[in-house]
Amino acid sequence: MTIGSTTRRGGDWLLGDTAPADVFTPERLSDEHKLIAQTATEFVQSEVLPALDALETKDWALARKLIKQCGDLGLLGADVPERFGGIGLDKAAAVVVGEVLGACSSFATTFGAQTGLAIIPILCFGTEAQQEQYLPRIVSGDLIGAYCLSESGAGSDALSARARATKATDGSWILNGEKMWITNGGFADLFIVFAKVDGEHFSCFIVERSFPGVSNGKEEHKLGLLGSSTTPVLLADARVPAGNLLGEVGKGHKIAFNVLNYGRFKLAAMCTGGARQVISEATAYAIQRRQFGQPIATFGAIKHKLAEMTVRLFAVESMLFRTTGLIDQAIAERGHDSAAALAALEEFAAEASLLKVAGSEMLDFAIDENVQIHGGNGFVRDYPAERHYRDARVNRIFEGTNEINRLLVPGMLIKRAMNGGLPILEAAQQLRQEIATPALSAAPAPGPLAAERQAIAGMKKTALAVIGLALETYGKALDREQEVLMLATDILIDTFAAESAVLRALGGSGTPLQQDAAMAFAHDAVTRVNAAATTALSAMATGPALGATLAAVTRWLTLPPANTIAARRRIADKVIEKKGYAFA
Ligand SMILES: Cc1cc2nc3c(=O)[nH]c(=O)nc-3n(C[C@H](O)[C@H](O)[C@H](O)COP(=O)(O)OP(=O)(O)OC[C@H]3O[C@@H](n4cnc5c(N)ncnc54)[C@H](O)[C@@H]3O)c2cc1C
Repeated sequence: MTIGSTTRRGGDWLLGDTAPADVFTPERLSDEHKLIAQTATEFVQSEVLPALDALETKDWALARKLIKQCGDLGLLGADVPERFGGIGLDKAAAVVVGEVLGACSSFATTFGAQTGLAIIPILCFGTEAQQEQYLPRIVSGDLIGAYCLSESGAGSDALSARARATKATDGSWILNGEKMWITNGGFADLFIVFAKVDGEHFSCFIVERSFPGVSNGKEEHKLGLLGSSTTPVLLADARVPAGNLLGEVGKGHKIAFNVLNYGRFKLAAMCTGGARQVISEATAYAIQRRQFGQPIATFGAIKHKLAEMTVRLFAVESMLFRTTGLIDQAIAERGHDSAAALAALEEFAAEASLLKVAGSEMLDFAIDENVQIHGGNGFVRDYPAERHYRDARVNRIFEGTNEINRLLVPGMLIKRAMNGGLPILEAAQQLRQEIATPALSAAPAPGPLAAERQAIAGMKKTALAVIGLALETYGKALDREQEVLMLATDILIDTFAAESAVLRALGGSGTPLQQDAAMAFAHDAVTRVNAAATTALSAMATGPALGATLAAVTRWLTLPPANTIAARRRIADKVIEKKGYAFA
């Protein structure tokens, strides 16, 4: 897939304009992508959705069977090379499959652990022998995989793991420790396990359940995802062959972080898929539920909810496909092998974190509104709204909590700026001049969403001003200023989301209704960015300097009023007409 002619770098969207034609969108999916999405949809509807209740009774034989069926249909290896049993498509294919499976409650997690957490480490870091030994059987669904990074005392701080590995005289490894909250732990055949060699060197191992000393603990009693297995994994003098060290001793962090990059990106796809499902359910309910003599779908308050769920999904979906296009293009430019994939995912790690946070919070919003639209029926188990509400909550906790992801993003961009790859610091420096010598903002160019595009350029300036002042104020101690970092990331999320939505709406397949959605999102985003920037800047400056910067932010974020209520009503009407997401 070729989108745009120039090589893009992670974070460079912050520094300039992007043309709508240079952005990948769901409307640009190929027939191949649509076919695999259709295969996944038919499988989910005929096999997975009817099995959800049985899965919640911990029927792991059924979970295995469903994973095997996914393997038979090619859904486990959409982006895995054909020589390992995959179908060798691009990341866009993996995203569309992830979206469809995202609507499958517990099974989405089972599937995600298999495809993202078990396959990717071996694909990207395994030796040829390890890849040949394990990948075809995981991709076919004959082997179930799990990923063992967390421990009871080492969650966000995963590198503080206490699990140990010691080299035996015959070269094999002896592993001891207890891993916690392991998805698929109760029935996986193969574990990707992180442990410290001699208690010091963080490393990674491929561990089979059949190896002596490997077992799992009891199922956790969870708030949600009752149909997904979550257990401790116990290693008691577990004997692991020498050839099952994955990567190098002391380099386990590279595997852990890169797998997380991919996992975050894929989690966002699962969240957009989940939100689509929830919008369909909310709409169907609102159409059939009558109060005061009419369907509740006719009430403005309900229309607002259906529209806002749609607007937020549209924005996250636009970010997701834009990033997917960037990653696929980077992989193509780097030569299509697993090293290329790894480098591309690393390049867009900041975007993956933005997507993880935005996706999980958008889904929680949609799911909460779904319960609300269902009223009392949303609170009881007769309707799926209640299950979605419980199942989705964990998305803000795993794959790096949303706090950790928020804290990581500014650092990733600043590191890139320091390495000379992204001239953020120069751009922030130039803004100082603009703040000191204010000029009247030019009127926006004529055309659709022109004022919003101008405000988005202002959001970028605001982000740069906040990050620039934070660096100047705190220097190397910035990583201790978590409140400012979190606010900076909030601004970046809104900026990337608003721009992605606007560019999609202005692209060749954009529609007036997409423009309504992009406009509504951008207006609210501008308000949020203004509030976040004011809070952050007020912590770092005082007096005339603060006054001048806040005045500049106000100028940059000026957006003429627009009738977003009417826009949302048009969107809601379409959702009601389609009985689901307006932009599918
Ligand atoms: C259903 C489920 C499935 C899971 N599946 C897997 C799996 O397959 N494999 C696996 O390895 N793990 C898995 N996990 C574990 C998951 O990745 C961790 O729970 C997660 O990383 C958070 O770690 P923690 O629970 O120890 O929370 P903590 O790290 O203790 O965090 C607690 C709170 O403190 C905040 N916090 C922590 N550190 C900081 C900081 N430096 N600054 C500011 N705030 C901070 C966090 O954001 C959070 O709000 C799963 C968890 C669940 C619930």
